[in-house]
Amino acid sequence: MALIDLRSDTVTRPTPAMRAAMAAAAVGDDVYGEDPTTRALEDMAARLMGMEAALFVPSGTMGNQIAVACHTNPGDEVLLEASSHILQVELGMMARFSGVMPHPLVGVDGAFTARQVEEAVRPDVYYLAPTGLVCVENTHNAAGGTVWPRARVEAVVAAAHACGVPVHVDGARILNAQAATGVAARELLAGADSVMFCLSKGLGCPVGSLLCGSRRFVKSARRVRKALGGGMRQVGILAAAGLYALEHHVERLADDHVNARVLAEELGGLAGLRISPPQTNIVLLELTGDVAAADVCARLRARGVLASPAGAGADRRRIRMVTHLDVDRASVLRTADLVAQELRAPGV
Ligand SMILES: *Cc1c(COP(=O)(O)O)cnc(C)c1O
Repeated sequence: MALIDLRSDTVTRPTPAMRAAMAAAAVGDDVYGEDPTTRALEDMAARLMGMEAALFVPSGTMGNQIAVACHTNPGDEVLLEASSHILQVELGMMARFSGVMPHPLVGVDGAFTARQVEEAVRPDVYYLAPTGLVCVENTHNAAGGTVWPRARVEAVVAAAHACGVPVHVDGARILNAQAATGVAARELLAGADSVMFCLSKGLGCPVGSLLCGSRRFVKSARRVRKALGGGMRQVGILAAAGLYALEHHVERLADDHVNARVLAEELGGLAGLRISPPQTNIVLLELTGDVAAADVCARLRARGVLASPAGAGADRRRIRMVTHLDVDRASVLRTADLVAQELRAPGV
């Protein structure tokens, strides 16, 4: 029987129609600015995000780190949420590559407040590190795909801008936030200066992210991308997948959210589990009994369901399940059934 892979929305494989679009793509050398498909994708992304320009980058990590490099000077501090991707899962690159210091803010459901920003921004005193950037992660991955309300982003952007500090949005899943709220992504950005979003997650592309901002920002981002070895040649092959996804896979993100809700509801009544209703496509299962997440994941794997232990420490008690393009209703119902059986099994 086929595996049900709920570890991440990055595991999707390109559909036959997406592969056909890739095969048919018009291409040129993008380092010479001659790849028409990449140009088209960047234009479409910029429009979607309400920004002047966009740059196709190989990964979300590269997009975020280019943004940090372009917005800051070495020695600056960057305000960001304590469990954010940029801080926790990008190999200390902000320090290593841009020479900046993280100044973590602890949020609720991944979101901090304008007040926290105001209190954390350094006054203009010569012996303090200047605050160079504020980063917002929407949806927030580690918090369980939680959405920043638009008003909150707006207040944070206003607080940052009042101090002359730019705001970058790590919007790897900003289109999930759009699907969940019915508010257009460009509105959810609420005046932020740049945004990165991923094509390789719920949108189902094999590779790629887009970094969007002002023309001037994207011009410097293009130089940093090249410096990192991210200048790509006939990359229209990959951009074609992105164009296809933006045309065909955005509306359907709502289906993933329904499947995540169904999964959470089915698991809701089980003894030994605590689940908050998912806002988007990420379901966090908290094990309340004396069993480690890794054990439950190993049992599920033996029965054809892949899920990841989440959180910190060897005795992790949280399991993450992510719905996506390659997971249908039957798969989430079967998963719920298997989780129930395994939690009732002897030794659990
Ligand atoms: C996945 C992810 C990234 C990084 O994307 P990669 O393409 O895996 O480098 C950045 N931020 C968030 C919130 C993510 O979930």
